[in-house]
Amino acid sequence: MNSAFTGLRSWLRHLAATERLAVARPGAKLEHELAAIAKRLDGRQAVLFPQPGGHAMPVVSGFMSKRAWIAEAMGVPQSELLARFREASEAPTPWREVAAAQAACQQVVHDFRAGGQLDIARLLPIPTHSEHDSGAYITAGLVIARNPKTGVQNVSINRIQVNARDRLGILMLPRHLRAFFQTAEGEGQPLPVAIVIGVDPLTALSSQAITPIDFDELTIAGSLHGAPLAVTRCQTSEVRVPAEAEIVIEGRILPRVREPEGPFGEFPKYYSAREEREVIEIDRVSTRRDPIFHTIVPAEMEHLLLGAIPREATLLAHLQRSFPGVLDVHLSIGGVARYHLYVKLEKRREGEPKNVILGAFGGHYDVKHVVVVDDDVDVHDPQEVEWAIATRFQADRDLVVVTEAQGSPLDPSTTVRFIHSHGGKPPVHLQGMSAKMGLDATKPLESAEHVFTRVCIPGEREVDLATALQPDAVDLERILAG
Ligand code: MN
Repeated sequence: MNSAFTGLRSWLRHLAATERLAVARPGAKLEHELAAIAKRLDGRQAVLFPQPGGHAMPVVSGFMSKRAWIAEAMGVPQSELLARFREASEAPTPWREVAAAQAACQQVVHDFRAGGQLDIARLLPIPTHSEHDSGAYITAGLVIARNPKTGVQNVSINRIQVNARDRLGILMLPRHLRAFFQTAEGEGQPLPVAIVIGVDPLTALSSQAITPIDFDELTIAGSLHGAPLAVTRCQTSEVRVPAEAEIVIEGRILPRVREPEGPFGEFPKYYSAREEREVIEIDRVSTRRDPIFHTIVPAEMEHLLLGAIPREATLLAHLQRSFPGVLDVHLSIGGVARYHLYVKLEKRREGEPKNVILGAFGGHYDVKHVVVVDDDVDVHDPQEVEWAIATRFQADRDLVVVTEAQGSPLDPSTTVRFIHSHGGKPPVHLQGMSAKMGLDATKPLESAEHVFTRVCIPGEREVDLATALQPDAVDLERILAG
C-alpha cells in the first residue's frame, strides 16, 4: 500500500484542492493572533499564514486536525486506522540515505557557528501561542537524536522555547530522548540533536509511536508511505533527518546547563510551570528554498490526535495480547486524548473487564481512567459510553481504584511530593503520582429476558428517507387547518 502523500507540500495541495486549506490575510501577528485564527478553524480547515509577523516564510497549522484526514493520508478507511498504524509499527521499513546535495532540506544553509549574529527568531516565524506562555515556542519540531550507546535514533516531539538568538529550552519527559541525554551528560558530553519542522502527516504521526528504546520511529514512516523514507545526514552530527523536510535545526543539548523554561500551555489545557530545564545550542539551520514553517496549536485537535492515534494502536495491541476479546480502544478527546481510555470488549467471562482495566493501566502511565464496554457500544461516541456507564455500571461492584501509581506529570491534579534529602542537596520532587480508576460498564453474561436488551425499532437502520418522506403527496395546510 503506497500513500500518495509522502511530503508536506503534496498533502497541503490536496487539502487546498478539497477546500480544506484556508489562507489568512497576509501579515497575521505571530503573537497570539496566528494561533487564535488557527484555533477558530481547528478540526475544520488547515490555515496557511502568508508573511506572518512580517516574515517572508509562511506558517501552516492544523493540517492533521481530523481523524478522517489522517486515515485519508494513509489511504485506508477510518475503521482501519489503528490496524494500519500497528501493521506499520510491527513491520518497519529501514530508511534510505541520500546525499546532502539531493536533500531538499539542505538547499539553504545558515551557519550559527560562523561568528555572525544569526537570530533564530528572525530566521523563523515562531509563534507565541497561549495567553501565559513565556514567549515563542516551536511546537511541531520532531526532535531526532542518537542513543550514545548504540547509535540507534529516536524521534519525539518536544516543546521548544526560544531562550536567546542561538539557544532553545526543551522539555524532555522521562522517555527515550531524556535517557540518551542522561547518558551523554553522565560523561560530560553534549547530545547532538536535530529539530525537524515541516514534514508530511504520516512522518509526524510516526514520531509519536510508543515503541521500545532503540526503535527508530522514522522506520514506521517508511512503512506508512509504502516506501523507504529518504533521509540525509546532518552536517554537524551523525543524526539522519527526513530529506524532504522544510526546516532542520542542528544543535546540541548542553551538559550541566539549565535555564528557565515555561510557563507553557500544554495538551491538558493547563500551563506547565516555569522550571530550570535543558538547553539546546544551535549550530546550524538548513531549509528548503522558500520553506513553510509548521506550528501546532497546543491542546487543539492536531496536537491531541497526533498523540492519540499511535497510543491507541499501541494500547490495542498491548491489550489484545492478553485479551483476544478486546475489539477496539479510544482515547477520548475530552480526556485530552491521553487520560481516558474506552475499551470495547467481547466479554467471555465475568470479571474479565477488571483484568482488562488492570492491563490498560500497565499499557501507558498516562492512562488514568478506563471504561470497559460491550461490543454493542461505540467507543468513539462519548454519549454511547456514558449510556453504558449509566445503565451497566454499579460503583460498589464494578469500580477499580488504584492509589498512588505513576501518572502524567502534566496532569495538574496529580500529587507533587518533595523528598527532602540530606547533605545540602536540593529536595527531590516526584511529580505525577496519580490514582487510577477503572469502570466495568459491561452487562452480565446472563440476565433475565430483556433486562439488558437495547431498545431497537425493527427497520430503523434500513429506512430510506428519500422514499419515506414525500412532502408533496399531501395537502399539509388542509391537515393542519382548523
Ligand atoms: Mn522512542
